[in-house]
Amino acid sequence: MRLRSGRRQKADDRPEAPAATPGLAVELRGVRRRYGRGAGSVHALAGVDLALPRGTFTGVMGPSGSGKSTFLQCAAGLDRPSAGSVRLGGTEITGMSENELTELRRSRLGFVFQAFNLLPSLTVEQNVLLPMRLAGQRQDRRRASAVLDRVGLAGTARRRPGELSGGQQQRVAIARALVTSPDVIFADEPTGALDTGTAAEVLGLLRHAVDHLGATVVMVTHDPAAAAWADRVLFLADGAFADGIDGGTADQIAARMSALTAHTTHTARTAGAGAMAGAAA
Ligand code: ADP
Repeated sequence: MRLRSGRRQKADDRPEAPAATPGLAVELRGVRRRYGRGAGSVHALAGVDLALPRGTFTGVMGPSGSGKSTFLQCAAGLDRPSAGSVRLGGTEITGMSENELTELRRSRLGFVFQAFNLLPSLTVEQNVLLPMRLAGQRQDRRRASAVLDRVGLAGTARRRPGELSGGQQQRVAIARALVTSPDVIFADEPTGALDTGTAAEVLGLLRHAVDHLGATVVMVTHDPAAAAWADRVLFLADGAFADGIDGGTADQIAARMSALTAHTTHTARTAGAGAMAGAAA
């Protein structure tokens, strides 16, 4: 029999939370990422703790250099933390091999990028089916058609990305991210290349995917109006989550961002980077 050290029954007889918390799509514990060694090293992530339930839409903001890109890469299995653990859909990914991580990204994660990243010579349908094709799975054309329908692109399956508007291309990218019913969709500035009206359509679609298709979305953005579509916005400062707003308006989010940027600049000038207290997000 294997004894688990440190596990005790609570007074009310409920067992303590298991190592992976059920219902969480993303779980980061004590995640650190250091670049370089010795005196010149940079702590891009200085101890990130995060627990995102399934079916939630989270925005991540922060001043330039605060660690947004490093966070996204560590959370999505594209980079390895120097310390700490990352769980996606309850699976610990920290010790996985490159092959296992590649397989996990293909089958259980969705990605939406600023630049759409569609393959121009493939049709819309082939682009949507790409994750299945790369994973060596049967290409389920009915599923592709259903997902295209859901993102408002019925009838475009045989067209090429270049024949579509920017907003439509980002819808194709969202369909591609949804097609495998992933544990999490990571979106990196998904509206950065779109005009305001088209951006709102794309954000509405991500919102719809969370509310009606059970998706979980983590979106890095610098745009408070985009972040306002999320349930919750988390703010990174000096490599740690410093603050969070639930259900904030664009104005409230922008104000919090300005305060944080001013504070970060101030601490960087007076006390060196890394001085921001890591209040739990
Ligand atoms: P953001 O996306 O918020 O601008 P990053 O995650 O890109 O922040 O960077 C966080 C910190 O880590 C910054 O100080 C940056 O200079 C540093 N950094 C990022 N990538 C590297 C790297 N490959 N080598 C050295 N330092 C890096």
